[in-house]
Amino acid sequence: MPQFTIKNTAEAIKELDGIGLSLMEISHRSKEFDAIIKEAQSLFKELLNIPDGYHVLFLGGGASTQFLMVPYNLFQKKAAYLNTGNWATKAIKEAKFFGDVDVVASSEDKGFSYIPRDYKVPGDADYFHVTTNNTISGTEIKEDLEVDIPLVADMSSDIFSRPMDVSKYDIIYGGAQKNLAPAGVTFIIVKEEALGKVDREIPTMMNYNTHIKKESLFNTPPVVPIYAALQTLKWLKDKGGVEGMNKINNEKAEILYNEIERNKLFKPVVEKEEDRSIMNVTFVTNEEYKELDKEFLEFAGSKGMVGIKGHRSVGGFRASLYNALPKESVVALIDTMKEFENKKA
Ligand code: PLP
Repeated sequence: MPQFTIKNTAEAIKELDGIGLSLMEISHRSKEFDAIIKEAQSLFKELLNIPDGYHVLFLGGGASTQFLMVPYNLFQKKAAYLNTGNWATKAIKEAKFFGDVDVVASSEDKGFSYIPRDYKVPGDADYFHVTTNNTISGTEIKEDLEVDIPLVADMSSDIFSRPMDVSKYDIIYGGAQKNLAPAGVTFIIVKEEALGKVDREIPTMMNYNTHIKKESLFNTPPVVPIYAALQTLKWLKDKGGVEGMNKINNEKAEILYNEIERNKLFKPVVEKEEDRSIMNVTFVTNEEYKELDKEFLEFAGSKGMVGIKGHRSVGGFRASLYNALPKESVVALIDTMKEFENKKA
């Protein structure tokens, strides 16, 4: 999280704008919260250049609830999914509760270390679902795909990391806890036209239209994370928006991948440059240095580097370079890798 977000949210938790109440105490129906959520929605639309006809929702339930809300609202006969990782696999599992799921391609054969490119999206599917950034394995689809059927994307871990064309998608969703806010709020960008096409009755809370009609206030929304999201959006605007962010993100990722390639001890998990995530950089030790994994983690820890252990399904290391992470932190990790190499290789 940006320090700006942490500081402003902490202050508002003590007291919101001199009103004698904490952000944690205000009603979600108060005029103060109405102003907060409206400004957050409006900045969200401005920063992603969201066209008319789309709604921005802030709900609870995490991205995992969207794995089933999407099919509830869009799945009529059949859906198509691209399997690029653990999260995509989970989304597919939920969609299967609704009927026939066509998994058009999967990179599971190589531990999800690449983005499949050779596949056909069936024209008779109700929608095509992709996970644009695969947080665990470190692959990313960095362009907006062109398909002939409605496109749905889980952008939990790369939203606001690059400019994008929202008009290419019917639904974009994600847990906010990477580039936007602390855990607790889920963002959903939904095209109004995409809805109302399924025959089934949709349970109230699962129905996007419920939340559109009530402007995300059908039930109590996560007030504190939404306030924090507003702070991050203000910070993002000040940093040059998604264009500004993308430039810095590319620089951060490039210097780190270059070091992983150069350093004798390490190699990247994702071979092809075009498939490599700029948000989650995964790397492992080369075969002859495998026994150094634990020692490197300890060495990095002694230099103040925490949270770089890779996910248990991938092993090795993962450096998450979310928007708020300054370039200096990446340089510090690179210096640590060099120092460790000098000691060991
Ligand atoms: N999708 C992706 C790409 C994720 O990275 C995550 C969590 O890390 C999820 C979905 C699940 O999100 P949540 O924990 O909000 O349900």
